[in-house]
Amino acid sequence: MDFQAYIPGLSPAEPGPLARFTPPLEEGVISTWLPLHAPSGSWVLDPFGFSPRLALEAARAGYRVIVTVNNPITRFLLEMSARPPAETDFKAALADLASAKKGEERLGAHLQALYLTSCEKCGNDVYADSFLWRKGEDAPYARVYTCPHCDDAGERPVTSQDMEKARRIAGTDNLHRSRAFERVTALEDEDRVYAEEAIAHYLPRPLYFLTTVINRIDNLNLTPERRRALNALILLACDAGNTLWDHPAERPRPKQLNIPNQFREYNLWNQLERGLAQWTETGSGVPMETWPNEIPEAGGVCIFEGRLQDLDDEIKKQFPIKAVIGSLPRPNQAFWTLSALWSGWLWGREAVEPYKRALRRRRYDWAWNATALNAVFAHLFDWLQLGTPVFGLLSEPEPSALTSALTAASAAGFDLKSLALRTQHDPVQLLWTCGEHLRRQSGNANVQEVKEAIHSHLNERGEPASYLHVHAAGLIALATSRALRQNNQEFDEALRGTQTLIQTALEEDRRFVHYSSGESVDTGLWGLALDPSAAPPKSGSPQENAPDSLSDRVEIAVVTFLQKNPESIFLDIEQDLYPRFPGLLTPSKAMIYSVLSSYAEKESAEWTLRTEDVASARRNELKDIAGLIEAIGRRLDYATRKQERMYLWEQNSRIERIFTILASALIGRAISETPYPPEQTVIVIPGGRAALAAYKSQRDPSLAARMKVYKVVKYRLLRTLIDLPVLTRETFEEQVAGDPLEKSKSQLMMF
Ligand SMILES: [Zn+2]
Repeated sequence: MDFQAYIPGLSPAEPGPLARFTPPLEEGVISTWLPLHAPSGSWVLDPFGFSPRLALEAARAGYRVIVTVNNPITRFLLEMSARPPAETDFKAALADLASAKKGEERLGAHLQALYLTSCEKCGNDVYADSFLWRKGEDAPYARVYTCPHCDDAGERPVTSQDMEKARRIAGTDNLHRSRAFERVTALEDEDRVYAEEAIAHYLPRPLYFLTTVINRIDNLNLTPERRRALNALILLACDAGNTLWDHPAERPRPKQLNIPNQFREYNLWNQLERGLAQWTETGSGVPMETWPNEIPEAGGVCIFEGRLQDLDDEIKKQFPIKAVIGSLPRPNQAFWTLSALWSGWLWGREAVEPYKRALRRRRYDWAWNATALNAVFAHLFDWLQLGTPVFGLLSEPEPSALTSALTAASAAGFDLKSLALRTQHDPVQLLWTCGEHLRRQSGNANVQEVKEAIHSHLNERGEPASYLHVHAAGLIALATSRALRQNNQEFDEALRGTQTLIQTALEEDRRFVHYSSGESVDTGLWGLALDPSAAPPKSGSPQENAPDSLSDRVEIAVVTFLQKNPESIFLDIEQDLYPRFPGLLTPSKAMIYSVLSSYAEKESAEWTLRTEDVASARRNELKDIAGLIEAIGRRLDYATRKQERMYLWEQNSRIERIFTILASALIGRAISETPYPPEQTVIVIPGGRAALAAYKSQRDPSLAARMKVYKVVKYRLLRTLIDLPVLTRETFEEQVAGDPLEKSKSQLMMF
């Protein structure tokens, strides 16, 4: 397979509305990919409608994008981002809501009063920003506020008034709950139970808040633009108002409707006010129409409301699709169920009707996901011309999601052309083309083939890989020989079969080593066992065929690039690097940052090699260090002999110590090049390289094991030793043994 380079993008400055449910994609990826595969102005299809930002970016890049959207909330997000109301409309709508009457009060004041509490320090009234709850209790246990009177701020225990207030609101809860329910579905409706379950994820206070606001908007006489703006703010409050906000926030992207053991109840009035910034900071105008209205050739979004399967075949023929793009959907019971609920709240029962299946379905598993994806791919296959490219982004790529996507596409007649994978935290970039319209035979799944594919990837990598990487290597082999699904196999059977095959390949093959504290194959890392048949190295001749590890090669590539291109931004570096390490070899950002922080300095986003790391400066320093080794050797009565790049201490022609001086952190390479026993070998590195060496050993257990045997010391140690007034062989041994590498600075950035 001709692997493509991973296309780097930039993390969006603002995560945008409902960001915890929309796919986390980088910006700039689709606008880089499209011009390489389709002429500007041509028709492009996003059949998944899963990421509003993706479609908008394609439209802004000058393409006419047809998006099929089934979920009313996603559709609304898309419309709002393409045609955001003016900031003045948001403000006016919110002001109208605040000044509406509620009995004798203003509605705004009434709703804000729901969150009144008293400052623990000065006793004044303050509005809590949130309350903290434990699952199953009838009152919160803490409140979070910032007091404008005395600046007291943070989490404080609740008062008895806070608890009483929560219970008082709960006293009228039945009425509001049934109102909230009736906007979604009729009483006799078979979907009633699912709507009730979704509403159960709202506490009484937010539910009272939301139903009060929603029942008011119809009477506010807002212009359509202001109504849209207010709906947008309420939508964010609908999400802020549920119980899916665990505290502390450990699962920021919920997939299931589960009430966390501890969770945060937000002040929804604050959320309405803050929502304004979220909408106005992310939107920008893009022409948008509803199918089948025309959009300009210069680019725009054409929304088809419904599923791809509902598009008429005759109409489809009028739209020559040049490329298909999309964020591949992954099951999200929480978002899909809540979407149905919110659609009912915002637009009434009729809006929910076409989408109701989401309420009905409780379990979305991978087999369901593969079946649904396959239905889309099968329709695409009928629509598209031979060879049409399909570019899919799979965010949060767990192994099962990848298996599901590849199986669904392959079974529908698409040929996998590339799979670029960075880490399990980044979207996988997949490229298929529409295959031959002939009856296709599926191949036989072959465990040997999977073993060879995994072996070949690990060998090329030169270091252990995550389970996701080896899993992907196995999947690619199976996709290439069309063996992901046997003829007419059900998808759950096909997915299970593939999973078993890859597991068996890993467990059976003695060439693979599992670095993991757990039992399960998908934890930890997989690497290659050192070849037991290889002869032990002969003295004086380096080991052969040990390829540099991926991280060593990345270090070389980054430094080479910076030598030629000083003042480069991170994206420049990624753009140079990724084509050199395509497909499964794509280096992680953490790896690139580790190299950069070791060698370079950043000034206003531009990286330049440190003065001491310019090649000429390093060469001089290497000479100095060699001189030190010789001088220290002399004081310890050793003769120093240079052999290739090594310095040997000898006594009576017997080799006692071997020094390898590095300017880099290429320790793996240095180890494989030295023909001498590890316990005699000292690898000397600049102090500025210690953190990088530590980072490499942390992410590569096989390197860590080798580095335990060899001595790795910093230049500085030799400089200290030469200054010692009394230096003995014992002191030397002690000092060399006690020069630890620094710990890598951040655990989070490990991969
Ligand atoms: Zn105070």
